Amino acid sequence: MKNPDSFPAVSLGVFPTPVQKLENISKRLRTNVYIKRDDLTGLGLGGNKVRKLELLLADALEKGARVVFTTGGAQSNHAMLTAAAANRLGLRPILILKKRGVTERVGNRLLEDIMGTEVILMDTDDYADIYAEMDRIGRALGVPYYKIPCGGSNALGTLGYVKCAREIAGQGMHFDHLICAEGSGGTAAGLALGAKLYLPGTKVYGMMVDTEPFDRITPALMREAAQMLEADLEIAAADIELIDVCGPGYAKPSEEGNGAMAMMAREEGLFLDPVYTGKAFAGLIRLAEAGRFRGTDRVLFVHTGGAGGLFAGM
Ligand SMILES: *Cc1c(COP(=O)(O)O)cnc(C)c1O
Repeated sequence: MKNPDSFPAVSLGVFPTPVQKLENISKRLRTNVYIKRDDLTGLGLGGNKVRKLELLLADALEKGARVVFTTGGAQSNHAMLTAAAANRLGLRPILILKKRGVTERVGNRLLEDIMGTEVILMDTDDYADIYAEMDRIGRALGVPYYKIPCGGSNALGTLGYVKCAREIAGQGMHFDHLICAEGSGGTAAGLALGAKLYLPGTKVYGMMVDTEPFDRITPALMREAAQMLEADLEIAAADIELIDVCGPGYAKPSEEGNGAMAMMAREEGLFLDPVYTGKAFAGLIRLAEAGRFRGTDRVLFVHTGGAGGLFAGM
């Protein structure tokens, strides 16, 4: 098997991110809850996309790109962080975002404005239209360009979270359960694949905050990433437990998610976001209340960031 470090990566973040015990929440949920602080990855306002971008933008540079396109919802944390990272590397970011949700100059849109990012809001529900528009603009610019998919969730981006699983293994504690939000799939797929490689005995859960067919997307990303690594592994649906926490819809706050945000803020002084991490943590609380964790278990929640969206007035 190849070492994940054999794929070129630029340094954008600060790693390893800390693992901390949530003492008050552990008492309330009668188990041992820890948090992996990927909200502190050290670029922009932090978040999971930094690990993916270290690989994706290295690939863009290696391919001689001058312009980097990406996409997402109007308040995409991924798009904002892609702009921040590309600027640092001397690449020109162009964001083509879906004209859905909060499009005003707040949250991530405000941060993009401060960076002077070129943002195009496109009135479509279909990412295929957006990727076609990237090609149209890229060809018109006449310079080499690089397209990063929504959420940075292709096999290369997924390797960022395989490396995160290895990082967790190196932090010296065994976890029985590993829980993260799942929005485009790369984070959960990377952790589930990484757990097979580096975290024996750790069960991985993807908390689905959107209604995409993650039961197909997640193992497909795991297989592609395993193939890149030339890892001789059988990927099965049972490698990850997928749980629906979407509630009223993607980027629409849920009562359960807001409750989880309030618990984390009051008990631990940490802030989750309404789109991803609040709903994901609500899923963790649900499992605890259903008796799925023993009193002696260790549960690791990956805080994937989202601070930008927190200020989008949701
Ligand atoms: C993108 C994102 C996620 C989801 O990660 P995916 O790899 O897209 O599934 C979770 N939390 C936050 C804050 C995000 O921005």
